[in-house]
Amino acid sequence: MKFREFAEFCESIEKITSTLELTARISEFIRKIEDEQDLYNVVLFIMGRIYPTWDERELGVGVGLLYEALENVSGKKKERIEDLVRELGDLGLVSARLVGERSMLTLEFEELTIKRLREIFDEISGLTGEGSRKRKILLLTGLYGQSTPLEAKYITRLIMNEMRLGVGEGIVRDAIARAFGVSEEIVERAYMITNDLGKVAVIAKKYGRKGLEELKVQLGIPVKMMLAQVAESFEEAIRSGNIAVEWKFDGSRVQIHWGNGILKIYSRKLENVTNALPEIVEEVKKNVKEGVILDGEVIAVKDGRPMPFQHVLRRFRRKHDVLKMVEKIPLQLYVFDVLYANGEVIDMPLKERRNILKEYVNESERLKIAEQIITDEKGTIERIFNEAVNAGHEGVMLKNPNSPYIPGKRGKHWLKLKSVMETLDLVVVGGEWGEGKRSHLISSYELACLDTTTGKLLKVGRVATGFTDEDLEELTEIFKQMIVYRHGKIVEFLPKYVFEVAYQEIQKSPKYESGYALRFPRFIRLRDDKDVNEADTIERIEKLYELQTKKT
Ligand code: AMP
Repeated sequence: MKFREFAEFCESIEKITSTLELTARISEFIRKIEDEQDLYNVVLFIMGRIYPTWDERELGVGVGLLYEALENVSGKKKERIEDLVRELGDLGLVSARLVGERSMLTLEFEELTIKRLREIFDEISGLTGEGSRKRKILLLTGLYGQSTPLEAKYITRLIMNEMRLGVGEGIVRDAIARAFGVSEEIVERAYMITNDLGKVAVIAKKYGRKGLEELKVQLGIPVKMMLAQVAESFEEAIRSGNIAVEWKFDGSRVQIHWGNGILKIYSRKLENVTNALPEIVEEVKKNVKEGVILDGEVIAVKDGRPMPFQHVLRRFRRKHDVLKMVEKIPLQLYVFDVLYANGEVIDMPLKERRNILKEYVNESERLKIAEQIITDEKGTIERIFNEAVNAGHEGVMLKNPNSPYIPGKRGKHWLKLKSVMETLDLVVVGGEWGEGKRSHLISSYELACLDTTTGKLLKVGRVATGFTDEDLEELTEIFKQMIVYRHGKIVEFLPKYVFEVAYQEIQKSPKYESGYALRFPRFIRLRDDKDVNEADTIERIEKLYELQTKKT
């Protein structure tokens, strides 16, 4: 398949906002794709993905590298490119414009295919070490050199993982169901287990419903994690009888795959974080029988007290000097579930899975099975809740002891009860460099919520307090790589990160396109474990605003 056909298709659906229409168009498009590899690639590409999330490979092409390739192709200076970004507001459009005006033309213009693009991406993501930056620029320059403006627009959007088509997993899932005549539920289940919609599409096409149903949880392939809903009260939780009560540990979620001598740890976003957690790797290898997938929470502990969650994420992000960090921020693992024990066990009730957990896991100083008490008494839950909070944790998890493990589901089987105030998870879209002593730091950050109907990000405020100096140093390092353009001290970022913020009040405000503004927002932490599409929505802000006006 020619990449041109794909780019033209993307262009033809760019203006469509109706979910139904998008689903119909995509389903029609993918149904006609004969070649399996093309189908696989198209399904990932349409969502702006090159690899499934859990695949370690990544292009490692930031804004800086992209600008260099575009400079090469167009002969334009970086400043001119930045001006264009400011004018057009999107790197894809800028690439199209620059390629349209390019000075360097490849003589033999070979039309780009989807497979060739995949080869180039795979080569780029395989490059490491000295000379890799140069080679990446060369490959990208060649790529833009042989592409049309329209192709360039979508190549850039793919590289930046932002297709701006409003096509998320939900739409692609439904399109696959429709294209290959299977139910959305089956496609959903297959997706939660494989975490690869490309693979799901290929299986649906080749083997239909039966093929999808036969998919099982596998060692080495991460499964979407089961999530919890907010419980309104202790009473609500025990309304239907016995409940399993556990502490809600204030750490970071992990899924551990251990078998055939190989151990892998995945974060909540299903990123492979194995290398950052050597002491956990060692502890599990020593104390857990092989052939399991465990679900648990990693916490940082110092002098017997949990350290703030931010420290755990700091450990997760660490790529260098890992061993130094092991001493500085020591971690412990609490496991609370098992998904696989030499075979899939997700359909067993929780209380049976707990028994398997105990069979496989030997507790040690750094590795514990989360304590669980089954009760229907409000007083007991209250006591455990207070114990958890006094020990520095968040509250309790209340689980239905008879429930299966439902991957990716935020349902009533797991309820969470927290002691802390309401916070918002918002996307960081811009910032401003500081003054004086802080002039080398990006010291305030512009925040936006999601509009799920249009896929747009709507600004709701700017946060400049709550940061420690260490936070700002660290955040500046991260966000420097995300700058798409600057205007004096003001910068705009690729929207890739989420902040958790507290605030005093939500106000109506004409200043922001969301119609709302946060009063006294305060930074709590970088939610590095959350994807942008998991940020809070405009609907939630509206709801909180209404609740707040009712209260006053
Ligand atoms: P939240 O992130 O607020 O939706 O709360 C759910 C998260 O609590 C899970 O994703 C886990 O990371 C964390 N958690 C802490 N302790 C437990 C536990 N005992 N069982 C399940 N999840 C837990």
